Amino acid sequence: MRKMKSERKKRLPGIRGQVFFGFGFFILVILALLWVFQIALLGPFYRAIKISEVQGMARTLENRLEAENLEETAQRLVNATNTSLVISDELGKPYVALKASEKFVRLEGLTTRDLQAIFEGVNLKGGTQSEVYRFSQDTWFGGAQEGILYAKTVHTPSGLHRLLLLESELTPVDSTVETLKVQLLCLTLVMVILGSGMALLLARRISRPIMAVNHSAKQLARGNYNVSFFGSGSREVEELAQTLNYAAQELSKVEGLRRELLANVSHDLRTPLTMIKGYSEVMRDLPGENTPENVQIIIDETERLTNLVNDLLDMSRLEAGVVTLDKSRFNLTASIRAILARYDKLAGYTLSFQADREVFVVADELKISQVVYNLVNNAITYAGEEKTVALAQSISGSRVRVSVSDTGDGIPEEKLKDIWERYYKVDKEHKRAQVGTGLGLSIVRNILELHGGSYGVESEIGKGSTFWFELEMEE
Ligand code: ADP
Repeated sequence: MRKMKSERKKRLPGIRGQVFFGFGFFILVILALLWVFQIALLGPFYRAIKISEVQGMARTLENRLEAENLEETAQRLVNATNTSLVISDELGKPYVALKASEKFVRLEGLTTRDLQAIFEGVNLKGGTQSEVYRFSQDTWFGGAQEGILYAKTVHTPSGLHRLLLLESELTPVDSTVETLKVQLLCLTLVMVILGSGMALLLARRISRPIMAVNHSAKQLARGNYNVSFFGSGSREVEELAQTLNYAAQELSKVEGLRRELLANVSHDLRTPLTMIKGYSEVMRDLPGENTPENVQIIIDETERLTNLVNDLLDMSRLEAGVVTLDKSRFNLTASIRAILARYDKLAGYTLSFQADREVFVVADELKISQVVYNLVNNAITYAGEEKTVALAQSISGSRVRVSVSDTGDGIPEEKLKDIWERYYKVDKEHKRAQVGTGLGLSIVRNILELHGGSYGVESEIGKGSTFWFELEMEE
């Protein structure tokens, strides 16, 4: 808790702030781009378009010089492009002179001689010439206004010589720029207001469910496993809530099992200890009680204690992930036979092993033996009246399967999944005959998973259970 508090000092920005500022930044970038394109680049764009428009107009007129409706075409083009026009012959005699706007200055007052001089000058320079000129001063918010004077000499197929003089403004009309500026200003205002609203709304929508989940998670961290997570608003948060609900459920399950284990272990430890103490005292005080049977009870109870402690140790080592496998190639079939031989003296039980050939595996022999022991021990413990336990070895493909079947009471279907969990016991009532820590199968599972093997169980109530595991064979 203390660590959390000290970390809180160098606070990271919250989701709400990040979304809000991210969105705000995005809007600012869009607006900046709009301003750059609409206002700053308007001049250059307009200029380039206008120049090509004037050139295009000159080309159109060039082809129509001998047409009857030349003047009509010229007038239409002048109106459409707001470009003034003079067409003269090589001696400077004007044929067509059309003015587009009062502003055009260069074409005004050109004499016949001027036109003739221009014709000759342009002709000498290859037929086309253009001149960009300024007709106003630079201002601080924009450049000077510019115009273009474009001249072209044409020699028609029938031998006519003509001079085309066009003049047009290259700077966008002030009112256009003004309109755009006002429009952009309005747009900027609307976008800033709308954008801030949207950003706030969005930020709230995203952060609220996360804050709710976080609130519940803190409760979970404090040990309240019954807390429920509600995630709404987005798929990810909903999934997070589901995952956390699952985690809380699992935690509460493990916590329950842990408490149970503690109770069981204390009980399991105390019972043999009480027995050992009781029998020892009796043997000390009453010489006649010093019998081999009583000594055997003490030995049995000691063994029970040893097993319990070993299980607990194994489990905690496996869980901590510090166990490394000591793999070697060994004869699995022989290993199982050797294990079964030790049960020979077990009165009243029939143990059988069916194997049609010797199978070798590469695995940790000691750990695999532990698996077999645990399964056989369970089968014996839960074997029921018939007291028969059947082991079988079969081969499918490249894998060998070992199964351990008993004729006991079986396991209810809904419990089959849980028995592999640590500390889990189907029969919670503590029967002396069925001591167990609930760790055996969990150890089996851990060992087989370390080996990359598979395992499972089939069980039918009243008929018995078959536990099996599979390992990769080694020829
Ligand atoms: P335990 O030490 O209690 O036997 P295990 O992890 O080995 O713990 O087994 C978990 C539970 O699974 C047991 O408590 C028992 O209820 C059930 N179980 C295991 N093997 C058998 C079996 N062969 N027949 C019936 N129940 C079994």
